[in-house]
Amino acid sequence: MNIGPYSIEDYMHLVKSFHGNIAPGLIIGGFMVDLAMKELPNDILFDAISETQTCLPDAIQLLTPCTIGNGWVKVMDFGRYALCLFDKYQGDGVRVFLDPEKLENWPEIKTWFFKLKPKKEQDPIILRDRIIDAGPDILTVQHVTVDKAFLGKKGKGAIGTCPSCGEAYPIKDGTVCLACQGGSPYKRKLPNEKLGTKTTFKVIQ
Ligand code: ZN
Repeated sequence: MNIGPYSIEDYMHLVKSFHGNIAPGLIIGGFMVDLAMKELPNDILFDAISETQTCLPDAIQLLTPCTIGNGWVKVMDFGRYALCLFDKYQGDGVRVFLDPEKLENWPEIKTWFFKLKPKKEQDPIILRDRIIDAGPDILTVQHVTVDKAFLGKKGKGAIGTCPSCGEAYPIKDGTVCLACQGGSPYKRKLPNEKLGTKTTFKVIQ
């Protein structure tokens, strides 16, 4: 059994070097991408959607030409363990999800997925072995059409300088950039404050 062009062992090495550890979700994700690719027609250009930001985007990036950075993977964080590969022009695609019904035959995987026991009471080696034994057996495939609104790349359009922060941003976002509209996660430290010091905040966007 292979995952994409890789033996299971080679895939796990890749996962370790890219993701930092051999997460169970990434092994399952490998089978998910592999199954979706087998169901897609050959020779089409496809984009991908991951319905969670956990693990699956990395499986897609390891096994397909789609990356977050090239814009061919979109994370729609519904929190569902599902992904879809689809024809980037027509929208016809294959959605694969981890199917709770099918986990009934795989108690160790079910325990892990539904967090039925604390992690330290689960055996990671047995879990990994069961995931590999199960392969695509715990997955369900749906043939879908992706809504036209989600097809194609949307360009940034014209770029301007934000009058609030002085940085470049797409003008279509508004009169100031999205960070200055309140989306920024930062409070800025004053110039004489170092990292690690307690910050007396003056909010500067
Ligand atoms: Zn700004």
